[in-house]
Amino acid sequence: MRLCEIAVVGLGLMGSAALHSLSRRGADVIGFDPLDLGGPRGSSHGSCRVYRRFNFESKAYTDLSDEAFKGWRMLESATGRTVLLPSQVLEAGPPRSKLVAESRAAAALKGGGTGPTTGAEANAAFPAFRLPTDWDVVVQESGGILLAEAALRAFREGLEDRIVRATARIRPTAAGIRISTPREDILAEKVIVAAGPWIGGLIPGLARHLKITRQTIGWFAPAQPDAVRYGEFPVFILEAARGLVYGFPDFEGRGVKAAQHDHGPVVGADAWGPPPSDDELELVGTTLAELLPGAAGCIVDRDVCLYTNTLAADLRGDKGEEFIIDRLPDDSRIIVASPCSGHGAKFATAIGAMVADMALDPKVTAPEAFRLDRYSQFASGLRGSGE
Ligand SMILES: Cc1cc2nc3c(=O)[nH]c(=O)nc-3n(C[C@H](O)[C@H](O)[C@H](O)COP(=O)(O)OP(=O)(O)OC[C@H]3O[C@@H](n4cnc5c(N)ncnc54)[C@H](O)[C@@H]3O)c2cc1C
Repeated sequence: MRLCEIAVVGLGLMGSAALHSLSRRGADVIGFDPLDLGGPRGSSHGSCRVYRRFNFESKAYTDLSDEAFKGWRMLESATGRTVLLPSQVLEAGPPRSKLVAESRAAAALKGGGTGPTTGAEANAAFPAFRLPTDWDVVVQESGGILLAEAALRAFREGLEDRIVRATARIRPTAAGIRISTPREDILAEKVIVAAGPWIGGLIPGLARHLKITRQTIGWFAPAQPDAVRYGEFPVFILEAARGLVYGFPDFEGRGVKAAQHDHGPVVGADAWGPPPSDDELELVGTTLAELLPGAAGCIVDRDVCLYTNTLAADLRGDKGEEFIIDRLPDDSRIIVASPCSGHGAKFATAIGAMVADMALDPKVTAPEAFRLDRYSQFASGLRGSGE
């Protein structure tokens, strides 16, 4: 049986980042994933994700964003590939919008946040918008468009012989963690499990703390193509009456990519379903027509992706939608590096480096907010059979 120091099961953005980070540090690492890069499944596929320096979800994320930003630039210089296009990020909502207030608060801590502050100013600066003039607005200069598929390719560059294209099962044994695939078994000293929406099937007891949701995305043929071009128009996040809608300037020549951030229907990780229907994209289309008419138009392309959302923890003040990055309490050789909900992509370089550190150095621990012991089931060290 082949041996390795560290196995990485699941090579979406998190696992690929860990594989890249470990191999750069000379670790003997093997990654496992059955999916083709560029294929339509997993949570990391597709052209882009939003990179925000200031995160309305928590001020605590700014340092992780900054860490990740350095990582993206290092990845670009190591591979010669572009993975992060700089872009302004505009967030807007009704007066006293929580979204805008939280982003402003995060930006204020670091002296960031410039440009329009009201709907009227945003409409003047970016004529594609038609926001209510009294809306609150914040613009981050230090945002970006993360090129997700390009990032996956960059992480894996030169590591083809370190990747096993197969679904893996893991079984802890006294000799090591046995990683079984249909073709071979490999014995690893440690394993990083970064299986995205499938992680509940690999880590007993975890699935009950997760909610997988179907998220639908559309590309809209913009009514005013010149007004939504990359470089002149920002990434946007709008707190509309019926939900949070975000989108990108037309940087691909494919239309304006836009989606709803609020959770879609709960599904299983393998329920990949049909492409989104017109009904599923109706809210996004009407929001664009109302608030961003320059970007509105017919739907020219569609995609589906899954969010892996954590549920609220019972032992700490955590309302859910937080990451899980930790060693298993009853087997510290197994590191969980997921799930990263609807906002994890931007942090992949930082999270990959963090779990690589944890795999290489037993003294390194994950930040408290991400640890499993926020759930009483894991705090007791007894996971139970659960699912
Ligand atoms: C529609 C959508 C929009 C998003 N927008 C943003 C955004 O704007 N900004 C942002 O920061 N984040 C965003 N995110 C979130 C971000 O994309 C995810 O947090 C991130 O991609 C999760 O990556 P992952 O590696 O954990 O999971 P995945 O990408 O799902 O990777 C898991 C991998 O594990 C593999 N796997 C599963 N089981 C096994 C097994 N048994 N053996 C081997 N391999 C296995 C799968 O094949 C898969 O490739 C968005 C997500 C979605 C769905």
